[in-house]
Amino acid sequence: PELINQIAAGEVIERPASVVKELVENSIDAGARRIEVDIEQGGVRLIRVRDDGGGIPRDELALAVASHATSKIGSFDDLERVSSMGFRGEALASVSSVARFSLTSRQPHEDAAWRIEVDGGRTQEVRPAQHPPGTTIEVRDLFYNVPARRKFLRAERTEFAHIDDLLKSLALAREGVDIRLSHNGKPVRLLKPARDEHAALARVAEVLGADFPGQALRVEHEAAGMRLSGWVGLPTASRSQADQQYFYVNGRLVRDRVVAHAVRQAYADVLFHGRHPVFVLFLELDPAGVDVNVHPAKSEVRFREQRLIHDFLFRTLHEALAQTRA
Ligand code: ADP
Ligand code: MG
Repeated sequence: PELINQIAAGEVIERPASVVKELVENSIDAGARRIEVDIEQGGVRLIRVRDDGGGIPRDELALAVASHATSKIGSFDDLERVSSMGFRGEALASVSSVARFSLTSRQPHEDAAWRIEVDGGRTQEVRPAQHPPGTTIEVRDLFYNVPARRKFLRAERTEFAHIDDLLKSLALAREGVDIRLSHNGKPVRLLKPARDEHAALARVAEVLGADFPGQALRVEHEAAGMRLSGWVGLPTASRSQADQQYFYVNGRLVRDRVVAHAVRQAYADVLFHGRHPVFVLFLELDPAGVDVNVHPAKSEVRFREQRLIHDFLFRTLHEALAQTRA
């Protein structure tokens, strides 16, 4: 099983940012209002994710780190309609097979906290621990037992940049969650929860850069069972914004050709030719209309009705952008 988990880990866990993604998504699934991420040496030395979510009962700790035992996907039908962010219950098993891993947790209604440690896939017994309600997972010495993987890791600051990017993209989609990130003991990012639209925009600005709000145009439109909301950036003289494009489908960050094309067309048609628009957009639609199960990294989707989606996006953005010229 260790070997199988390590192979699975190769699929899911490419680098420290992949670990952070799995852990933070679990925290979000667990209803966390506050998530702290502490990183040392780009995540190779340490990744620690602490949350105030619902925790894990003592007798489920061993299951949580066991392969395929704990998926939130209970049936084929669930697979069709994945709405929670979890993926097939193998993330913790994978991570704990390629690192020195510990999970400490306390459920809010319990007095006691418990810890389980896994060292390169070898699970130790559950022991009592100290912990406030919620969960802390520590991942040390990532890939220490998989030298081939370790070799592919990049410079500390590159790996950290991937982590920061990942947290930014999660923070945009989860505006109600307090997210803090530190690197080598220094606070790097502090994203306060947004409870109204003003605060939400401030949070977007914090992630995308300070001059976004002044330039941002609010988009909100619903039709044919779909809803598009968010902000699109208007042109500024100064910036190159190639990588500040965030598009979410049912809460999940997605890179998709149909989407990219529709957005590009709308901008090109109305406003700025040859520029990279900045945008943060959320598309909500019936989960049955979109296949998110393409890749474990969850960054690709396949729409059942591509044409419909394309036209909805294009028209909505076109109309919104056109108003700025009126
Ligand atoms: P999945 O998320 O697909 O179920 P994971 O391996 O990521 O698989 O997590 C295994 C299980 O461990 C989850 O289903 C959940 O029950 C539990 N779990 C993991 N992280 C947390 C957390 N931060 N808070 C509460 N429960 C958690
Ligand atoms: Mg998970």
